Amino acid sequence: MGNLSKKERDRFYPLLVHRDGEICQLCRKTIEESGMLVIHEIKYERPLSNDNMKLLCLSCNRKLTSKALNIQRDGSPEYKKNIEKEPLFRKFVTEKLLENNFHYSYDELIDSGAYRCDISTETAKRYMRPLMSEDGPLSKPMGAQNGELHVWIKGHEPYYD
Ligand SMILES: [Zn+2]
Repeated sequence: MGNLSKKERDRFYPLLVHRDGEICQLCRKTIEESGMLVIHEIKYERPLSNDNMKLLCLSCNRKLTSKALNIQRDGSPEYKKNIEKEPLFRKFVTEKLLENNFHYSYDELIDSGAYRCDISTETAKRYMRPLMSEDGPLSKPMGAQNGELHVWIKGHEPYYD
């Protein structure tokens, strides 16, 4: 996220004043009322364009900026976590199945996988779904010993009547 340099500010400020007037574009305070206006970037993009900028008073700028930061905080770690955890979970599932004659209890895979990869069981189920899809490497959960649902590596399923 780029902060404008002084030179860039000096270049864009007059353009924005010319376009919108020297007033906060959110609360409409004038420069006299607010004391100071800052350039708020709506999207942080290079090359810079004044289409992505507007003048705001300090308090409106603070409000908008902290909102944007919160969104990033919510979004970005979750994204990072998936990048990191999903392959780990897949590896765990594959190993379990190979160690156990190509099949394993679905519930156990979810619970142990969640524990091992430090994710929620909901996330584990979400990671599991594509693996058991039409094109995935695993079967849908099906009945095996003791009526417990097992998933199989495709091509190794037992034959059920
Ligand atoms: Zn304002």
